[in-house]
Amino acid sequence: MNNKCYFIDLDGTMYCGTKVIDGAIQWIDHLLDHHIKFIFLTNNSSRTQAQACNHMLKMGFRGIKPEHFYTSAMAAADKIAREYPTKKEAYYIGEDGIKEALINNGFNINPEKADFLFIGLDRNATYQDYSYALRLAHEGAKLVGTNNDRILLSEKGVNVGNGSVVALFEYATNTEAIKIGKPHNAIVEGALRYAKVSKEDVAIVGDNLETDILCGNNAGIETIFVTTGVHNMEDCYRLDIKPTYIVANLTGLMD
Ligand SMILES: [Mg+2]
Repeated sequence: MNNKCYFIDLDGTMYCGTKVIDGAIQWIDHLLDHHIKFIFLTNNSSRTQAQACNHMLKMGFRGIKPEHFYTSAMAAADKIAREYPTKKEAYYIGEDGIKEALINNGFNINPEKADFLFIGLDRNATYQDYSYALRLAHEGAKLVGTNNDRILLSEKGVNVGNGSVVALFEYATNTEAIKIGKPHNAIVEGALRYAKVSKEDVAIVGDNLETDILCGNNAGIETIFVTTGVHNMEDCYRLDIKPTYIVANLTGLMD
């Protein structure tokens, strides 16, 4: 029996901003038609599973379900809940995705006293929000960063990524955050449990050598690098990060 399971990146692999990447819809249709297992493995902690699913259905993807998504927020909440089963008070900087993940993992969202401060991207957060959260960290809440992406690309240019916000809190507290998202191992360990697969059966598919491909290489998982997003072939040499396979278009994986 074929237990193959793809862990698929979203931005730069499935779509770029609001534009679907050539071949992405056809490939997902192919996986569904052939009952080949996959999950979307994303560093984005902002959206809930349902929001992430709707976002892609609106773009024209078909047949995908909220359960197909595994986010850095889910991995963060799952890891901390497992490792610190008696510490349930949490506060967060972030959007719906992180809030839902915390509640699903049994945390109380407590703005008065927190064991952990989860840091995900919140596009509406203010100086006051950061300062409030920082006070909890200074009172002992341990930092958990959902991902360490320095920047985010948009049609307008670069935006501040969550990694830069995590770095702000690390600097302000002089402590180091627990790291979760790609290329760190926590998100892969969580995803393997979530998808109920072993790493020999997995291939990580993504456009970013420093997150997706490095993540696979660190974990001993096969990688498929697609040159539709942030990095190109030359970057493999420049960064000295070598994927298992390279494809220019996901339809190349359909044989
Ligand atoms: Mg990407």
